[in-house]
Amino acid sequence: MLKKIIEEEHIQKAKRYVEKGNSFLIIAHVSPDGDALGSSLGLYHFLNEYGKDKVSVVVPNNFPSYYKWMPGSKDIVIYDKYPEFAEQLISEADVIFCLDFNEPNRVGKLSEALLAAGGRKVMIDHHPNSADFCRVTMSYPEISSTSELVFRFICRMGMFELISKEAAECIYVGMMTDTGSFTYNSNHPEIYAIIGELIKKGVDKDLIYRKVYQVYSESRMRMMGYALHEKMKLYPKQHTALITLSQDELKRFHYTTGDTEGFVNLPLNISGIKFVAFIREYLDVIKVSLRSTGDFPCNEFAGKYFNGGGHKNASGGEFYGTLPEAVAIFEKGLSELTPLMQEELTKRT
Ligand code: 5GP
Ligand code: MN
Repeated sequence: MLKKIIEEEHIQKAKRYVEKGNSFLIIAHVSPDGDALGSSLGLYHFLNEYGKDKVSVVVPNNFPSYYKWMPGSKDIVIYDKYPEFAEQLISEADVIFCLDFNEPNRVGKLSEALLAAGGRKVMIDHHPNSADFCRVTMSYPEISSTSELVFRFICRMGMFELISKEAAECIYVGMMTDTGSFTYNSNHPEIYAIIGELIKKGVDKDLIYRKVYQVYSESRMRMMGYALHEKMKLYPKQHTALITLSQDELKRFHYTTGDTEGFVNLPLNISGIKFVAFIREYLDVIKVSLRSTGDFPCNEFAGKYFNGGGHKNASGGEFYGTLPEAVAIFEKGLSELTPLMQEELTKRT
């Protein structure tokens, strides 16, 4: 028996929406990652299994090809490709599940349509500081993935039996990717109880690892080598590393969505490095990814310097300007660390 993490009141209210709703819309954040997709598709399969025939998943933009094997991924409506259809689905749904995000601007261009929609909104999420725009807000930052919360939500409604092998596979993807294959945020023993249940449902966890992590192109591998050899700068005093890639460099290595996934984690393998930034130049925006170990709150850094947010150890933000300007802001941020933050970086662990 799992501990009751989600409040009973939330479960009962959302359960009534599930029972009474006719059309359902599941929406996840921009640049959907394994947890956004896994939680959305896990819930999608569950609702189908429950007998609901009007269930759609909408995401703002495309997602990496190594998630395209996930059961149901072909049914996902990508707003960038079908904007009118996506907006129609949002405006017509009785019930809208907001998964793996907690503020409307995380769905990018869809935020207006989402706020305007009349459907009953249910948030299931694990980021800190949730905004108040849903009728039911299930927000649990202590849980390492939204996919785990979806599993808990279904079980608490008493519908564990309705989790199919397909749903279990999707939920597993989210749990695996949001913990770096169970290398961080992964000490909660119940994670492994849940994985046990998912395996009993037919999940082949070793195969899923290979499908997500061992399918990269040659050019991505070479770009990784280049990024580490030529583009990684260390700041020993701050126990920090920075990797940058310009638009030209991305082009040189035939960049496609998802190719730089995981780069930001690599410098954390260096002994003593506790904070990493990966800054890359896309056509319309400079994207910043931050990672840390221990108690260094990189989400505060993301919020203060890059208009972003996220988790304590994994966060990100955006910058509109040039790559050198973004680097200058990052370095300014490093020079302005509070004594407490500096202490987090320098203390022995
Ligand atoms: P990634 O570096 O993998 O793109 O993002 C890591 C985490 O940082 C995400 O799960 C999300 O919580 C957060 N994040 C990334 N980019 C942004 C952003 O632009 N704004 C906010 N608020 N959070 C972000
Ligand atoms: Mn997540």
